[in-house]
Amino acid sequence: MSDGVGDPVAARPGRDVGSLVERLRSGDRRAVARLISLVEDGARDQLREVAEALNPSTGRAMVLGLTGSPGVGKSTLANALVAAYRAAGRTVGVLAVDPSSPFTGGALLGDRVRMQHHALDKGVYIRSMATRGHLGGLAWAAPQAVRVLDAAGCEVVLVETVGVGQAEVEVAGLADTTMVVLAPGFGDAVQVAKAGILEVADVFVVNKADKDGADTVARDLRQMLHLGEARPWQVPVVRTAAERRSGVDELVERIAAHRAHLEESGELAERRRRRAAREVEELALADLREELGELDRGEALDKLAEQVASGELGPYSAADQLLARVRGDS
Ligand code: GDP
Repeated sequence: MSDGVGDPVAARPGRDVGSLVERLRSGDRRAVARLISLVEDGARDQLREVAEALNPSTGRAMVLGLTGSPGVGKSTLANALVAAYRAAGRTVGVLAVDPSSPFTGGALLGDRVRMQHHALDKGVYIRSMATRGHLGGLAWAAPQAVRVLDAAGCEVVLVETVGVGQAEVEVAGLADTTMVVLAPGFGDAVQVAKAGILEVADVFVVNKADKDGADTVARDLRQMLHLGEARPWQVPVVRTAAERRSGVDELVERIAAHRAHLEESGELAERRRRRAAREVEELALADLREELGELDRGEALDKLAEQVASGELGPYSAADQLLARVRGDS
């Protein structure tokens, strides 16, 4: 490609990111896809540039997290939510983040085909990202991809991710409102409580409400929620049958109610501050780790390690010395 951005990996930072950001602001849809490719595949320098350039134009989108085990109906529900928001005239970005390893090749998320009838709608951006296990994957690239969609003017950004391991917690760290989806036959309230998901959910969705067992899942969840300590926001349990779009309007209402609660209580600003604090800290720590790694190549760490292993030096003193080197004290 003549503009040099056809291959995201080969894109030159600087001029390319700058011009892509310009194009994004002027509503060029292809710029959205390319910027997300940049953050997905890009080197740290590119992530840095995209984040720095876009940050002033962000903060307007309502960021919704949608997570749950494979098969509960997340994709079907995401599709129904997109339709509902579009019917209300709002622009929507969907980011499907697959936290699977490079070896499974991002096969955990449901069939994207369901989203295809939104593909021609100019008010919808859909993008999936496999994190490929690099740089902590989701933790690094997903916030930048959300920034891209936010800066592109999406009023609603829906981040869909498979609920495996820490994914629920990570997506909760990204979203203003986190929905955890369950379905009969796919885990129960006790498992939810054990996995520490009770705390991260702002809204529970029991999907496949057309099936036997949905009532039991919803009832058990409500009981479990009552057992917990009282919180200013009472987490609702919404039953949906996403396939026939039943319950979706109620879900949209509950999301709006949560949003109103976040704004009125000051929690929205607080969540965003906490999110920013975590991001800044992680970036600083990553830099520090990299600097330590460079020192290591200079064998500083090796020497210190030898001294600690042989008992010549205490580990804390060794760490002090290593940090002193990073700071340029010695
Ligand atoms: P995901 O893996 O969580 O994204 O789940 P999918 O959206 O791919 O859905 C998994 C399966 O459940 C598909 O066969 C869907 O057609 C089906 N499904 C989704 N929603 C419903 C529902 O409300 N009721 C029933 N009976 N099936 C559903």
